[in-house]
Amino acid sequence: MKHLAIREDIIATCKRMNASGLNIGSAGNLSVRIAGGLLITPSGIAYDTMRPEQIVEMDDEGRYYGDFVPSSEWRFHYDILKARPDVNVVLHSHATNCSILACCRLDIPAIHYMVGVSGGNIIKCSDYAPFGTKALSVAALAALEDRMACLLGNHGVIALGKSTAAAFNVLQEVDNLARLYIGTLQIGKSVILSEADMNVVLQRFKTYGKQLKDIDPNLTERVEPPVHGGASRG
Ligand SMILES: [Zn+2]
Repeated sequence: MKHLAIREDIIATCKRMNASGLNIGSAGNLSVRIAGGLLITPSGIAYDTMRPEQIVEMDDEGRYYGDFVPSSEWRFHYDILKARPDVNVVLHSHATNCSILACCRLDIPAIHYMVGVSGGNIIKCSDYAPFGTKALSVAALAALEDRMACLLGNHGVIALGKSTAAAFNVLQEVDNLARLYIGTLQIGKSVILSEADMNVVLQRFKTYGKQLKDIDPNLTERVEPPVHGGASRG
C-alpha cells in the first residue's frame, strides 16, 4: 500500500487526540501533505476501527481516489495545504475548551506567553460558516494568517504543523491556553502581556525546543543553554 507509514501515523494521531480528551468521537479530522496531494481521514469511520486503506488520497485538483469518501471538512484541509506551503499537516478537533471560546466567538489574547506557539500575540477566532463549506475555508484561512492555530467560530479549532507530532502539540497547547483563558475570565482580572513582551517571546520561540545546530547564531533573543562541560563527565 502506498504511504502506509503516513496512513498509520494519521490513525495513531487521531487515537491519541481522543485519548488525550482533545476531541470527542469522530468529530475531528486530520490531513497530511504528500507529493501531488494529501492524505485525509475518511468520513464517518470511528478511529478505533479505522484501517490504513480507509485513509483517503486526494490530488492537487481536489479529486479523491478509492472507495472511501474523505472527511466532510476536506475542503478546508485542501485549501489550507494549498495556501500554506510552510505546513504539512492540518489537524481539526472540537476540543472542549477551544470550542467554549469559539461558541462565545472570543480570540485568545496574550494571557500567557505560550500564546506565542501560534506564531503571534493572539489566537484568532474565525467568523462562523457552516461545516464543509468553502465559506468556512475562507474564514479559517483568514484567522490562520501568519498563525499555526485558530479557533473556528461556534465550531472548534484548527492546528497546523510541519509534522503530525508538531500539529498535535499545537492543538494540546491551544486547548490548555483556552482553559487558562476561561479561568481568567471567571476571576475577571487577567493581565494581558504587551506587544513588546510578546515580541521577545516570539523571538525566543525561534530557539525554543531546538538543538544548538538548528539555531541561528545571529538571533539577539535566544534561549541560552548552560555551560557545556564536555562530551561526558568522566
Ligand atoms: Zn468540526
